[in-house]
Amino acid sequence: MRKVIVQKFGGTSVADTEKIKNVAKTVIREKENGNDVVVVVSAMGHTTDYLVKMAKDLSADPSGREMDMLLSTGEGVSIALLAMAIQAQGYDAVSFNAMQIGIITENVHSKARIIDIKTDKLKKNLKEGKIIVVAGFQGVTEDGEITTLGRGGSDTSAVALAAALNAERCDIYTDVEGVYTTDPRIVPKATRLDEISYEEMLELAHAGANVLHPRSVETAKQFNVPLRVRSSFKTDNLGTLILGVDKMEIYKPVTGVAADLSQARIVVCDVPDTPGQAAKLFSNLAKEHISVDMIIQSYARKVSNTNDIAFTIDSSDLDKTIKTLDSLKKDLNCGDIQVNDNIAKVSIVGAGMIDRPGIASTMFQTLADLGVNIKMISTSEIKISCLVDKDDAERALKALHNVFELEGDETAVVKGDLPDV
Ligand code: ASP
Ligand code: MG
Repeated sequence: MRKVIVQKFGGTSVADTEKIKNVAKTVIREKENGNDVVVVVSAMGHTTDYLVKMAKDLSADPSGREMDMLLSTGEGVSIALLAMAIQAQGYDAVSFNAMQIGIITENVHSKARIIDIKTDKLKKNLKEGKIIVVAGFQGVTEDGEITTLGRGGSDTSAVALAAALNAERCDIYTDVEGVYTTDPRIVPKATRLDEISYEEMLELAHAGANVLHPRSVETAKQFNVPLRVRSSFKTDNLGTLILGVDKMEIYKPVTGVAADLSQARIVVCDVPDTPGQAAKLFSNLAKEHISVDMIIQSYARKVSNTNDIAFTIDSSDLDKTIKTLDSLKKDLNCGDIQVNDNIAKVSIVGAGMIDRPGIASTMFQTLADLGVNIKMISTSEIKISCLVDKDDAERALKALHNVFELEGDETAVVKGDLPDV
């Protein structure tokens, strides 16, 4: 049986017609290797940002449904153009949007999850020898409503398609040559990793490494899809392979460091120390599809019998969060709600830190030596994150990259923009 390869090209790779011609060549090369090819593309260049801006010009709070109607149009343009470019080079190609294929999502606007992908149409067209070009980022509900998967969601579309088609591999073509030990725009001596585990990549993606949409890594891990992040301008390079941690040799305690600058911290002060309060608070946020990252509940104060609950969210959810909390304030019987979005989360990630003591203390000491104040700390088995002032994030990142010996000899080549995930 022929193998299926799914390729994904982001907005910068299809920013103009010249670039689309190049993408067509890369696609055709894979087809010439004897594989069936499904290509997923994002909207051209900064189209999505532009669409968002127009919406905001017209309404402070555009409805989720209309936002998805609007944003999904960007990918509609790029799929048709790429299919034409492939056809112009003498190959049979067909473009499909999510509705035509049946990329079924839950009924949520702006960050829907994929629940099913119908493969009949895809298989039929592959069988006929066609190269299939699919719109990333979008989905459709069971009732035929258009949804989107969240900014940067085309990666997730690609991985989900690869899983559904049992693909040999999913190649994410991007502007960097792979996954680096940290953002090479901030630390030019960041090193490209040949391999990284799903688990580490997931932590890095959540920690603010803008290489891949976190949900795409989650999906790859769940369905064991081998995922390759590679350069769209140096197509011979193999980039970074993302695979199961069990298949890796681990040498260093820390694999990568990242900073997430799009966080906001909320402190709900003086919450009565009674059962059910945290449940009430976070279930109401969950109902609004707001995901919460770090959570700290303070030790209960004896006299007032209250405590403070602090948590972080993505700053894009800030307005929604404040609205939700305002309507909940009475019910929670809490005090002030404090908001700070001048913060950043700096994280170190590595499967090698399991069972190796001293990694956290090295991180804290490094920040202390810089005079950087730590506002919150959270950990997982393979990650330690510290919340710091936004202004401190860059030097913290550089120092941590240095102290955990992640520097390489070469300066990383970065062309164009990283995808704004
Ligand atoms: N076009 C969408 C965005 O900019 C999806 C993507 O690029 O993955 O967020
Ligand atoms: Mg993007």
